[in-house]
Amino acid sequence: MIVDDTCSICAKDTETAFHVLYTCEFAQSVWLLSNVGWQINSSLNEWLRGVITSYPQSQQEEIFMLIWSLWLYRNEVVWESRTHPYRFILSRARTALTEWKTAKISSVGLSSRPLSFPACWEAPAPSHFKCNVDVALLENGYYRLGMIIRNSQGQNCAGKLMTVSGWGDPQVGEVLCFREALSWIKSLAFFPICMETDCQVVTQFLTSTHSFSSYFSMIINDCKSLIQELSLISFAFVRKPANQVAHTIARAANSIPALIPIVKDKCIHQQSQSQDLHFI
Ligand SMILES: [Zn+2]
Repeated sequence: MIVDDTCSICAKDTETAFHVLYTCEFAQSVWLLSNVGWQINSSLNEWLRGVITSYPQSQQEEIFMLIWSLWLYRNEVVWESRTHPYRFILSRARTALTEWKTAKISSVGLSSRPLSFPACWEAPAPSHFKCNVDVALLENGYYRLGMIIRNSQGQNCAGKLMTVSGWGDPQVGEVLCFREALSWIKSLAFFPICMETDCQVVTQFLTSTHSFSSYFSMIINDCKSLIQELSLISFAFVRKPANQVAHTIARAANSIPALIPIVKDKCIHQQSQSQDLHFI
């Protein structure tokens, strides 16, 4: 019996574990979109030894979850003939990590040592961007949406405040904010970019393959279409302390002086009619 050992994903090279997880062009795209990046390594052993000895814990976590997600994808292609865009592999890895950490925290209780969710915002990899989004519920049922894009030096690149009508459902507000931020990003040139939200339900639904018929799910579907369109985009759940700037922007009530302490590396002003925040 002849066994075809060609990679089922790219159909260009011999399938080895190292190829599937690292050198395959599909895997390279996943790594380049992640916070880890990609550089030349000659073998699986050399690569993993480098990961264990020289990467910080937060990157190691992302690496091992990506390895799991890439291998799962290889099996989905081989056994189920199912394909996904490469950003799905990254988002699935991050969502699974978040769920695992959340489950771990609720099972060990508050008195135990906290797990390694970042306690504060972490800058993206060089030449990458991050967009943090958050929503505030206003008294009249409206939502105020706050979004901010920063680069690998932590500098503010763009910000936006929006007020939209609603009926005060926090999760709908969160997903509306996510969709508006995606539309906004579409008009800008900050790529590759990772969207960060502190609403875990949003990231769980974005990586779910089930379809639901609620209003929330309809907006999730809009988000999925936009993510499909914008190829160099990923998303992640972060805890509230790591989303503090977007949180504060959403609650700033158009008060630019209130924003100055939180964006202190740059001056900021707001044009009279526009809701865009300009960083000088
Ligand atoms: Zn391949």
